[in-house]
Amino acid sequence: MSKTHPIVIVGAGPAGIGMAALLSRCAMPALILERNRIGESFHQWPQETRFISPSFTGNFFGSIDLNAVTPESSPAYAFQTEHPSGKQYAQYLEDVADFYSLNIDLGVDVQDVNVDDNGIISLTTNEGEIRCRVLIWAGGEAQHANEIPHTVGVQASYKDFPTGHHVIIGGSESGIEAAYNLAENGSTATVIDPDAPWAYRVSDSSYGLSPYTFDRLRRLKGTGKVKFIAEFAEEIGKKQVRTESSVLDLEHPAINATGFDIETGLAGKLFHFPDGYPELSECDESTRYKNIYLVGPNVQHDKAIFCFIYKYRQRFAVVAREILSRWGEQSPVIDDYADKGFLLDDLSCCDGECVC
Ligand SMILES: Cc1cc2nc3c(=O)[nH]c(=O)nc-3n(C[C@H](O)[C@H](O)[C@H](O)COP(=O)(O)OP(=O)(O)OC[C@H]3O[C@@H](n4cnc5c(N)ncnc54)[C@H](O)[C@@H]3O)c2cc1C
Repeated sequence: MSKTHPIVIVGAGPAGIGMAALLSRCAMPALILERNRIGESFHQWPQETRFISPSFTGNFFGSIDLNAVTPESSPAYAFQTEHPSGKQYAQYLEDVADFYSLNIDLGVDVQDVNVDDNGIISLTTNEGEIRCRVLIWAGGEAQHANEIPHTVGVQASYKDFPTGHHVIIGGSESGIEAAYNLAENGSTATVIDPDAPWAYRVSDSSYGLSPYTFDRLRRLKGTGKVKFIAEFAEEIGKKQVRTESSVLDLEHPAINATGFDIETGLAGKLFHFPDGYPELSECDESTRYKNIYLVGPNVQHDKAIFCFIYKYRQRFAVVAREILSRWGEQSPVIDDYADKGFLLDDLSCCDGECVC
């Protein structure tokens, strides 16, 4: 037997929980389907990993905690820390879900999505079929790491890696984090990335490294334990990694820190990917299917990349406003979100570099 719900959100990470909290305040409650736990991606973080974007209790002065998914909450206040761990953040998401009494079905794996000629969206799940009028995809990217043969990913802890020399493919946030933690544990490392993010500054951390990571980089360089190669890894084998100018013999399998590709998952069916990222309308609706929206770190409009929580949370109200308007409704909560800096629809601000 199939179940029906007007609005379904897939994924109970920060995007799904934040979006559902807003919809619930707009009197449009959604059903969240989550295959594992609330905040599953954060439960999977290595134990050493901390938020790079700082949390701070600035809400009462209009500077809302950068890692909050609602304007009223603050992980900094909840845990009295500036850089929460994955477990702390998963707990924060559970608390937000409890506070708004969100309707979440855990253990439901969405395996396929189809849209019929009448625009009814049906989800095939391990618990049977679920139909909806609006689907909000908040499935995240963590399950879709780029695959490179002969490489390994980081698991529960950096302590699981044997001491020695490690080669890390990718020099963005994850690559530098790996190098930093391996050095802390007595290893040395070579980081390879043709874009050399460690070598330049940008005013939008989506295009480079965050200040937190630059702090670590300075400490790391002081140890002399890490080398950087600003070249493409042309060949990655079991025993060697080759770049244009170097051949590195591997003591241990190379570590893959090259990011994610959601096109390999169900999102690849729901959205067009003309330039490697999902093509979206102005209100983050799929250009392939009507009434299917994307929320989360893969929202991108030209140069505006919404990959951090403090960025993509500003698109929840854009999606909610569009759903409300199609149903002939309005909500003062959207204005409240706008007043609190939780609504960004003019993207002209997101292009260009700071002058100082
Ligand atoms: C090491 C690391 C450090 C980071 N640090 C920061 C930081 O400091 N600041 C910041 O803003 N961001 C940070 N990020 C990025 C942040 O983790 C992501 O932006 C965030 O997890 C994305 O949220 P999401 O809700 O879109 O996806 P997720 O958190 O991945 O949640 C998606 C959920 O959907 C579920 N799901 C997926 N597919 C299905 C399906 N088919 N059926 C049912 N359920 C499904 C998953 O189980 C998961 O729980 C970091 C990421 C990593 C990996």
